[in-house]
Amino acid sequence: MLSKKINDAINEQINWEFWSGYLYLAMSNHFESVGRKGIASWYRIQFKEEFDHALIFINYLNARGGKVELSPIAEVPQSWDSPLQAFAHTLEHEQQVTRRIHELYALAEAEHDFATRQMLNWFVAEQVEEEETAQDIIDNLTLVGEDGTGIFQIDTELGQRTYNVPAPLAGK
Ligand code: MG
Repeated sequence: MLSKKINDAINEQINWEFWSGYLYLAMSNHFESVGRKGIASWYRIQFKEEFDHALIFINYLNARGGKVELSPIAEVPQSWDSPLQAFAHTLEHEQQVTRRIHELYALAEAEHDFATRQMLNWFVAEQVEEEETAQDIIDNLTLVGEDGTGIFQIDTELGQRTYNVPAPLAGK
């Protein structure tokens, strides 16, 4: 049986994952509207992954006999000055998500909830990847600066990203 503390903290995290998805969908829409189709497509996949993260937590609460409570999703920004600004925002946001996952992990440890700790291991590893990916893209964008050809190449490359169902959701 899940403690109320853990149940509440996971519900908060579910809202946070949906908010992340909303943020990336807004970024996708923004870059679509300014003709950066590759970046728009990259963020559309990022949006799907965040909603998947929420589903992983929802499945977990259901499996443990917890109670899912969906709360309203707060408003997100709608435009960014440049790809570099958006990816800097993405990195900053992912660092915040990492801190939240780590807090949840610490809570699971304090509560001696080993199943929750185990489930969170996947998210701990996922956050390392999220931060690394955002940083790599920032490095590339910084390297090419305002150069149109460079941005065009990065846009094309990011457009090749494909969507993969996260392992905890496979077959569910
Ligand atoms: Mg996430």
